[in-house]
Amino acid sequence: MRSSSCIPAHRTALPIHTKTSCLTTCSTFSVPSVDGAPVTTPPEVRITHIGGPTVLIEVGGWRLLTDPTFDAPGQRYRFGFGTGSVKLAGPRVAAQAVLPIDAVLLTHDHHADNLDTAGRALLPLANRVITTASGANRLGGNAVGLTPWATHALQHEGRPTIHITATPCRHGPPGSHALVGDVIGFSLAWDNQAHGTLWISGDTVLFDGVREVADRVTVGTALVHLGGVRFPVTGPLHYTMTASDAVKLCALMAPHTFIPVHYESWYHFTQGRLDVERAFAGAPASVRERVRWLPVGEGAKIHV
Ligand SMILES: [Zn+2]
Repeated sequence: MRSSSCIPAHRTALPIHTKTSCLTTCSTFSVPSVDGAPVTTPPEVRITHIGGPTVLIEVGGWRLLTDPTFDAPGQRYRFGFGTGSVKLAGPRVAAQAVLPIDAVLLTHDHHADNLDTAGRALLPLANRVITTASGANRLGGNAVGLTPWATHALQHEGRPTIHITATPCRHGPPGSHALVGDVIGFSLAWDNQAHGTLWISGDTVLFDGVREVADRVTVGTALVHLGGVRFPVTGPLHYTMTASDAVKLCALMAPHTFIPVHYESWYHFTQGRLDVERAFAGAPASVRERVRWLPVGEGAKIHV
């Protein structure tokens, strides 16, 4: 358990998914019952990296899917304003195999490396789709729109309630919002998390909005979109975090577990696993040891 994660109660006025809440959740988890009442343990969490940004999260009976991408490789996609890419690898788990899905957590709906044609076909099969406010307007149907720091609760009898808070993203250099559109990340909180929330960064560069997440939320497990996305038409500008950004973020946020995603399977990703591993190899052990690579296509138990 992080010694620092439960301290700064004064730093936030937000509800239970914040650093304040850890005062409760950490003590609930670590202090044995003295009155004979059962001590609640955290629900088991299983995370399957399916490819790109697509991850299946199974927790306490819930099945949540992030950024569905299930198209076969080889296709070319346009992202707008002269940018585009080719998909290089298909999903390691078939779309039908992830069903049923309670909620899709869609960081943005308008880029094919986060929502492709086969992924889009899955959306009506989920109970709900949680995404940006503008994306929910475009998608309609079962979509719920969130602006940064708004929260939506998933509730179901017999399952832990999951509070999903949208977190800020900036999917490119300063001033790029008009071109790249709305993107959000997600912080998932449920009772008795051992280390803090499960955070999905979304496609973002390392900017003040992400630093604000590190400041306001006790993140226990971070699923971080990397890849160092660049496009020839905009030269050296980045649209997602680089390997060195990943090291900086991991040092700043200090999650118990730092899981890279969105670093393979696409032509426009300029940095893959080797680049990220190299960057972390030069980091202090206290940062390096937080990184965990999920085997793509296989579920892994994560202590959230
Ligand atoms: Zn994108």
